[in-house]
Amino acid sequence: MRLEDRPEPAPDSGTLLVQALALGVCGTDREIVAGAYGWAPPGGKRLILGHESLGRVLDAPPGCALSAGELVVGIVRRRDPIPCVACAAGEWDMCRNGLYTERGIKGHDGYGAERFRLEPEYAVKIDPALELCGVLLEPATIVAKAWDHIDRIGHRTRSWSPRTVLVTGAGPVGLLAALMARQRGHEIHVLDRAETGPKPELVRELGGTYHAHDLPDSLRPDIALECTGAVPLIVDVLKRAAIDGIVCLTGVSGSRPPLPFDFGQFNRDVVLGNIVVFGTVNANRTHYEMGATALAQANRTWLAKMIRRRVPLARWQEAFENRPDDIKVILQFSEEAT
Ligand code: BGC
Repeated sequence: MRLEDRPEPAPDSGTLLVQALALGVCGTDREIVAGAYGWAPPGGKRLILGHESLGRVLDAPPGCALSAGELVVGIVRRRDPIPCVACAAGEWDMCRNGLYTERGIKGHDGYGAERFRLEPEYAVKIDPALELCGVLLEPATIVAKAWDHIDRIGHRTRSWSPRTVLVTGAGPVGLLAALMARQRGHEIHVLDRAETGPKPELVRELGGTYHAHDLPDSLRPDIALECTGAVPLIVDVLKRAAIDGIVCLTGVSGSRPPLPFDFGQFNRDVVLGNIVVFGTVNANRTHYEMGATALAQANRTWLAKMIRRRVPLARWQEAFENRPDDIKVILQFSEEAT
């Protein structure tokens, strides 16, 4: 990983010119830096990192719904070139053939540059009152999609009336999942390793119950959102789903030595309990709009507390360090008050 000079973004890479204000760093970025994930653009060896963007429009084409000065976030995924049925319908998050690209992740330079270009279709306007918290939109879209799919699955029965929600992991994705559970009026339980620091407080401020390390045996969530990818936790979450429950897996796990797991018992519980377990990745434009609404309706002070460190570009390496009490760390491209 290094900071280097690159030419201005080519005009054919998008009609909107955007000045970067902030970039969120997440586990995926660290995996790319470690060489465990990520693909450079075709024909290249290096990838401009960054998929959690926040920028200000510098120049917009005439007739575009966005204008200079507005805050925007860039969508991460681009439809595959064929396109498959899902991409053709604008549901690139459900791409069938794997030929999609992702900015800053897969075959397409990211938003970690002082200026970048976007096609207006892939730019989402942000409520200016959100200021720097707008950088939380991309992780919020991941859980907006998760909740969208949970709602659709839940409505397989007319009597669906979930009450208890369990979220595993109090990182940005887990906390935003809990925020959306709160906005839906559910009872929230959040499990994380941290015993102290900002996470328990943030969960309590949502009116939720925070559990450090362990969950009470009696907790049988109607909805579980697994936001860590940690295998022992996944096993626990799968075992404790309530009858008619929904388990949503959002974390990507590495390959680990197998853990003992009774698939016969699991199958019995799933069948006899009408349980649904599903995975979800990425987000399409609808989810960006849902995420933007959820952020706009959230308490601004609460959101701001998730951003634990703002690292100026001059000290960019620090943004990729893992420090105790970090939740979301952002790289700031400009000192400009957003
Ligand atoms: C990003 C998603 C992306 C996924 C897989 C996540 O970190 O937030 O947009 O689809 O990685 O590449």
